[in-house]
Amino acid sequence: VDEGKYYLECMGCGGKFKDIENPCPLCGSQLFVRYTEVKLDIRDTPSMWRYIDLLPIDTDSSIVSLGEGYTPLMRAERISKILGTQELYLKDETRNPTGSFIDRGVSVEISRIQRRYKRIVCATLGDTGASLSAYAAKAGIKPIIYAPEKINIGKLYQMLLCGAEVLITKNYEEALMLAKTHKTNEKVFSEYSPYYLEGIKTIAYEVMEQLNWKTPDFVVVPMGTGGLITMIWKGVRELLELGLIEDTPGLIGVQIEGADPIVRAFRGEETDFLRGKTIAIDLMVRRPMLQRFAISAIRESNGIAISVEDDVIPRYIKMLAEGEGIIAEPSAIVPLIALKKLLDLGDILPSESVIIIITGSGLKTIDSLQEIVPIEDISLRLMGIPEKTTIRKIGETKLMILNLLSEGMMHGYEIRKKLREKYGISLALSTIYQHLHELMNYGLISRVGRKTKNKTKYCYFLTRSGRKLIEKHES
Ligand SMILES: [Zn+2]
Repeated sequence: VDEGKYYLECMGCGGKFKDIENPCPLCGSQLFVRYTEVKLDIRDTPSMWRYIDLLPIDTDSSIVSLGEGYTPLMRAERISKILGTQELYLKDETRNPTGSFIDRGVSVEISRIQRRYKRIVCATLGDTGASLSAYAAKAGIKPIIYAPEKINIGKLYQMLLCGAEVLITKNYEEALMLAKTHKTNEKVFSEYSPYYLEGIKTIAYEVMEQLNWKTPDFVVVPMGTGGLITMIWKGVRELLELGLIEDTPGLIGVQIEGADPIVRAFRGEETDFLRGKTIAIDLMVRRPMLQRFAISAIRESNGIAISVEDDVIPRYIKMLAEGEGIIAEPSAIVPLIALKKLLDLGDILPSESVIIIITGSGLKTIDSLQEIVPIEDISLRLMGIPEKTTIRKIGETKLMILNLLSEGMMHGYEIRKKLREKYGISLALSTIYQHLHELMNYGLISRVGRKTKNKTKYCYFLTRSGRKLIEKHES
């Protein structure tokens, strides 16, 4: 290689390259960025670009930045008390431009390609697509995103509003496959790009700088592809080489039970992917390509790999929001759940210092958080219907419909039939649908649809508010 500031090194054959695409053309292994000289003169820039000396960019003028990084590291005193630990810090990555730590990597990637490509293609579980769309918009590049149908609505809107062409696929695997079919004059983005990954390591730099180069005992992070933990370890080792820190923290990687191939491989167990779904959509990575690097990071740092239960996620999201004012997305809360587990197990002592990386914002995943704050209650309140007058206001017919639905779910035509049988009133089907529509607006009923040949049949049922109202009326 021609010696410049940086080059790529293959983790398989040790080959050195300049400006090629991952993986290694000789052996197919992962490439990482290396520097001809490891030196760091920290700039006075309030973003991750304060560490530009150790980022793979030649000139400042090519940087595409939305102000990523330089996120706060905060002492979490109230949560510490609840969990029974003495020194807990939160690295709040929800403050990044698109609400996720991903922005650090995407800023590097887009900065590198902005003058070479007009279009960028990617497959996403959500966050990468949202981030890529924003940075592509800033750089004047057209984003084309393949996303699975279970994508969070908030993230989908981020992409659409930033001008992305979004194509919905059955699942993530199909999205990946389709993204790879694109032409060579379009950039196909990959989460395994060494340049993208290099941006992620700045989290480690920042945490250490914010602690005045005093190494904490543990850093806890979620694992999807394994990229975050791999890059935090790379960052830590570079700081060690620079002499800025003297010790390394133990790295703790967390996955969801049943969707935990890295944790299982770490323990030498079968790596079958058992879980069909989790609300932590971003962690549903069936084949984490950086698994072996993630495992090395945990081993070499004397860390821990652990899986946590999916069903406690909402409770911990609420605990963090109520205790510290930070709204985390489901995949970002798993380190907190793991910390509680490890404190209970005695694997982490109350006196040991712990950093938790809150990787992304819950404002992007409101759709999966509805069970924390049930939406029907809120919509009823927004309607401004005072509780006492509700019954009178909604009228006799609607009350009859609610009474019928308290016996179970029903289709519109069944409601029509029962109104006649039970109350002796005969209404047109269109009138009944009008009533049902208004009851839905009040948040008193909801419906599920089943697709038949060419139309959707809806079945109506009482919401929690509807049930409460009927109970109150009966008593
Ligand atoms: Zn190689």
